[in-house]
Amino acid sequence: MSNLESAPGPQITVLSGGVGGARFLRGLREHVRAAYPDGSGGSTASITAIVNTGDDMWLTGLRIAPDLDSIMYTLAGENDEVRGWGRLGESERVSGELRAYGVGWDWFTLGDLDLGTHIARTSYLRAGLTLSEATARITSRWDLGVRLLPVTDDEVETHVIAQSGEDLHFQEWWTRHRATVPVREFVQRNLSESTPAPEVLAAIAEADVVLLAPSNPVVSIGTILGIPGIRHALSTTAAPVVGVSPIIGGAVVRGMADACLSAIGVATSADAVALHYRSRVDGGVLDAWLIDELDAELAPTVEAAGIRASVVPLWMTDAPRSAQLAADALAAAAP
Ligand code: GDP
Ligand code: CA
Repeated sequence: MSNLESAPGPQITVLSGGVGGARFLRGLREHVRAAYPDGSGGSTASITAIVNTGDDMWLTGLRIAPDLDSIMYTLAGENDEVRGWGRLGESERVSGELRAYGVGWDWFTLGDLDLGTHIARTSYLRAGLTLSEATARITSRWDLGVRLLPVTDDEVETHVIAQSGEDLHFQEWWTRHRATVPVREFVQRNLSESTPAPEVLAAIAEADVVLLAPSNPVVSIGTILGIPGIRHALSTTAAPVVGVSPIIGGAVVRGMADACLSAIGVATSADAVALHYRSRVDGGVLDAWLIDELDAELAPTVEAAGIRASVVPLWMTDAPRSAQLAADALAAAAP
């Protein structure tokens, strides 16, 4: 191998939620393997994902971490592409038994293979490991090509305070009520006492580039940004910070993020989300923002807010398009 080929690729840190983040990370991994090959199928670039843990919960005695698991299954090639979440070839025999005992949430099905992950995680936590340590052990089973860091080891769960005053775990609002219950506010429990997990702040400070995946701006990226210390790390890192819009043509691509945005008074549009994140020169977190070709006319509004806008296709319909989106995000970091 020549020196050129073995030159180390960039250290890339990605802020990520579950399904949208997972697709983006898979594309980014494919891109860096092609652009910075290490000669043995991997890459000299390194990818670290800082993952939302606000959707996590205790259920049936087990610690569930939906976003970490969505990413792990997707990168391992073990995800159910048709259903859009969970494990490939999943069965639900254990859930049937739990239902018969009246244990857990009958509207929240845990697959048998998925339960294996939750039991492993809980076993590590019960043995005294932190969530970061448990995640490192669990993910070491697969060749992910991405280091997964939960944003915090503390239990900072997102709750929805309904307009009626009722307090729901985010998962109850999202999965049981399909985001239809009117929201007064989103609350992150234990937020002020929480700290970023070890390695998280360094992953931002020492990165060559930081990317915001096209994840839910409120309950995925918003939750990560809420952990004390994260915003400061983003505002002080020497790395450029580039975000990818999860909104195309005034609509969410998949899921119900629009319900979250309207609850915090942000329009479901690519420019409104950029302005919500704000420019780093203006106390926010973004240097550059990727919007879809369908939203090209929004570029001047984004630029006027001090954020460079790149207009590129944002639909991650297949592996090559997801890899191209990742390449475009890296290109936007170094204009
Ligand atoms: P969750 O934790 O499983 O809800 O997933 P994330 O928070 O990571 O991502 C959810 C967001 O991904 C949604 O708001 C979608 O609009 C966005 N998304 C999903 N697929 C695509 C895609 O192909 N392109 C873009 N730009 N955004 C996407
Ligand atoms: Ca999530």
